[in-house]
Amino acid sequence: MIPIRGRTLAAVALTVAMGGTIGAAIAHGADGARWWAHITFLADDSLEGRETGSPGHKRAAEYVADLWRKAGLEPAGSAGFIQPVAFKTRRIDESRSSLALIRDGRVEPLSLGEDANFSLRIDPAPQVDAPLVFAGHGLDIPDRHINDLEGLNLNGAVVVYLATTPASLPGPLQAHFGSNAERWRMLKAAGAIGTITIANPRGLEIPWSRSTLARLQPQMSLADPALGEYPGQQLAVTMNPARADTLFAGSGHTLHELFALDDADQALPHFALPARVTAKIAITRSEIESQNVAGILRGSDPSLRDEFVVVSAHLDHVGVGEPVAGDRIYNGAMDNASGVAAILEVAARLHESGQRGARSIVFLAVTGEEHGELGSRYFVAHAPVPARALVANVNTDMFLPLFALKTLMVLGLDESDLGIDIRAVAAELKLTVQADPEPQRNRFIRSDQYSFVRAGIPALAMKVGYDPNTPEALTAQQWTAERYHAPSDDINQPVDVQAASDFVNVVHQLALRIANRRSRPKWNDTSFFKRFSH
Ligand SMILES: [Zn+2]
Repeated sequence: MIPIRGRTLAAVALTVAMGGTIGAAIAHGADGARWWAHITFLADDSLEGRETGSPGHKRAAEYVADLWRKAGLEPAGSAGFIQPVAFKTRRIDESRSSLALIRDGRVEPLSLGEDANFSLRIDPAPQVDAPLVFAGHGLDIPDRHINDLEGLNLNGAVVVYLATTPASLPGPLQAHFGSNAERWRMLKAAGAIGTITIANPRGLEIPWSRSTLARLQPQMSLADPALGEYPGQQLAVTMNPARADTLFAGSGHTLHELFALDDADQALPHFALPARVTAKIAITRSEIESQNVAGILRGSDPSLRDEFVVVSAHLDHVGVGEPVAGDRIYNGAMDNASGVAAILEVAARLHESGQRGARSIVFLAVTGEEHGELGSRYFVAHAPVPARALVANVNTDMFLPLFALKTLMVLGLDESDLGIDIRAVAAELKLTVQADPEPQRNRFIRSDQYSFVRAGIPALAMKVGYDPNTPEALTAQQWTAERYHAPSDDINQPVDVQAASDFVNVVHQLALRIANRRSRPKWNDTSFFKRFSH
């Protein structure tokens, strides 16, 4: 599609989606319409997809700051509502880079973009030459008696692993140990210098043909060296699963066999590969600044107002990239203008109703989520209040109001006693609650709530839920396949505005309830994540 601009078309799209009622709703400023109006601003083509550090992101941040001022929040950034965040950026220069396998003394080049891509989320070495070892899922979890690294010599090696996690692991552990950063911690401890990851196509949300388009975009890390997540990693390569069998030539194993074992949740073998990897990585580096936006609704109880409930959503998206069907702007209407619009609306509704909690509520729009939850990580490390005073996080990312809100999907539902709060709110609003129906998608770690979890702060994230094998499940699945991280996640798509308004009400009631509960939120004793609290 040709990029589409402006409010008129958005209103037309809504009229279609809502059976013609939305015009009147806009005229009366009804809540769902105001939520949608925020999206028409934030996801407009003129903001160019709100890439971290871009002028479009900055305009979005100023828009949020202005609305929080209007909602009566106290500024909680370091420059008014704005908390500047410094990033280092890296962009691959493919013409001066190369990647190859060396087998039996022969060099077998890999084609960048087709066979494999460098991940610049790490800061790679300019040159790498290392032996290759296949290590199953690349996991070492003593509590669970999982050790894919046992008996392998990983000293100075590049580790090849399947990016899935064993289905027998409980969902939260799959989520936690499935992250690149956690796996790197284990592999580094065993002496490895780099990784080559292979996604199992079974669980791939974005097909290679689309994800490879993003490889020429700058990738980022926080400039603050204390917040780096991949210390010592010299090489990170992502293989195209359709081309990755070449890694196993001469090993006595095939990728087909390994995927079959993985699909059946059987133990994967681990073995040294009869090959080395050699890489030359040329990078253009830069530094940029982007913005978190934070405001406080001060609590009413003198004994509790110095405790803070953080209500968050990420403001950034992936910017301007390779065109798909003639459209270069990745507007990020659902990912995550929708979440920012939701918390803007919560702040406005609290202001209009004169409600405030006993505790204080921090409203936080963060940058850098699409580059690895970086803005939230920075916020937690540089919070405007003592970190110990942050008592809970409620995050909203891509909650997908594509159909009526009847079931609430809650990530982290059984991890902390915030589960009691969300169950109570849902019961009051006559909603069914479900835990993540697809734990293998690792959603609990895949947004900003995880920056809080890792700092020991109990957190929840919610979405519009659905049961498996229903028309709603199919709608969500199609949305992910077609629009997720694609230019078509724009303001010209069917959205259920009533569902969005109902969802805003859930966040509103939940934030108030947490702010008003007597006891400080705590992790359940059975929760894996309890280990991060102090
Ligand atoms: Zn995203």
